[in-house]
Amino acid sequence: MEYLLTEQQKTIKQLARRIAEERILPVRAELDEKEEFPWAIMKDLADSDMFRVAIPEEYGGLGGGCLELCLVVEELSRVCSGIAVSYAASALGSFSLLKYGTEEQKRRYLPDIASGKRLAAFALTEATAGSDASAIRTTAERVEGGYILNGTKQFITNGGEAEIYTVIALTAKEKGARGASAFLVEKDAPGFSFGKKEKKMGIRASSTRELVFRNCFVPEENMVGREGVGFIMTMKLLDNSRPGVGAQAVGLAQGALEAAVDYARERIQFGHPIISIQAVQHMLANMATEVEAARLLVYAAARTIDSGAKNFTEEAAMAKVFASDTAMRVTTDAVQIFGGVGYMRDYPVEKMMRDAKITQIYEGSNQVLRDAIAFELRKRKAKRE
Ligand SMILES: Cc1cc2nc3c(=O)[nH]c(=O)nc-3n(C[C@H](O)[C@H](O)[C@H](O)COP(=O)(O)OP(=O)(O)OC[C@H]3O[C@@H](n4cnc5c(N)ncnc54)[C@H](O)[C@@H]3O)c2cc1C
Repeated sequence: MEYLLTEQQKTIKQLARRIAEERILPVRAELDEKEEFPWAIMKDLADSDMFRVAIPEEYGGLGGGCLELCLVVEELSRVCSGIAVSYAASALGSFSLLKYGTEEQKRRYLPDIASGKRLAAFALTEATAGSDASAIRTTAERVEGGYILNGTKQFITNGGEAEIYTVIALTAKEKGARGASAFLVEKDAPGFSFGKKEKKMGIRASSTRELVFRNCFVPEENMVGREGVGFIMTMKLLDNSRPGVGAQAVGLAQGALEAAVDYARERIQFGHPIISIQAVQHMLANMATEVEAARLLVYAAARTIDSGAKNFTEEAAMAKVFASDTAMRVTTDAVQIFGGVGYMRDYPVEKMMRDAKITQIYEGSNQVLRDAIAFELRKRKAKRE
């Protein structure tokens, strides 16, 4: 398949693949087993300028966009999606700055995020507010010189490891979603601490943690955008990041497909490699076709974003939904092709199947995103009429 990548994009993809194979492959099973945050790999990614890819040059980046970011996430996920998501979550944490930050905020934070010196994270979800993000309860009360945050965020990727957090909180409780605002909170802010560290089914090398704010003072210069636009900003940031979850899913599916083909070539039953059985061949053919289709949709959505398009909710949602459903199917079929050993931790497809599940759940569950796609379709029909 020809993906029409530029020379620079090909170089980024190759470099990410090399890091994944040389540095991540030897440790992925151990980090997953120990549920250990991959600091050494984060350092390798930083040393290879991977955190710079989607940050503008004036802030220490390489000036790429959504597609470049997706290429890195895809290649890392092909080997370990838990490590890939730790990398991707830092990008998500920096999006508020990139899209809505002041010049001063960008200069203060982006160079450190670009160099990989400091990781970022994005904190929206709460115990009462998952799919219904408008139900958040964390408050930000205006005081002299800033705001006082109170509340608890749940399931935050890079929680406890990141240094810079984009936190969505209510500056006007009575207005609900229209009263939400975004804040940059540093790890050492007084009144900011970390709660429960989750024990997960998959992506176990990543950290998923509660953020606890108890009378946490945030200076007014750390508000991103204006008061009251936090919710709409969040919806737009998630539109930007969803192709990245799609890329995570594509990488996972690609890794599972390759493992399944290799195994089917080697495994002998009834005197022949199982790849000579038509039932297995058709499974592999379907897996390969679906992975290519998902990849093309993810790249197309990323290119739409990079073209400067204003509304890409539908494209981003389609890419995320299709790629994550593909990853779930392909990793499940890979386990099937491995047979009994596929169910054992000695082989990588068991982890891939566990890792795939989350791509259907986070950054908008696939049910909620199907609603979003349908909403856009209904709007279009109304326009035609
Ligand atoms: C490992 C992990 C990492 C995460 N990282 C982050 C992070 O970094 N930052 C962050 O802010 N959040 C993060 N999240 C939160 C994640 O985005 C939410 O879990 C997700 O949006 C779903 O919300 P929920 O878990 O509350 O499920 P619920 O909203 O309770 O949904 C439960 C079920 O109901 C369905 N459902 C709910 N509403 C509707 C509807 N209107 N129509 C159709 N179906 C519906 C859902 O699809 C789902 O199947 C993370 C979660 C996990 C598990």
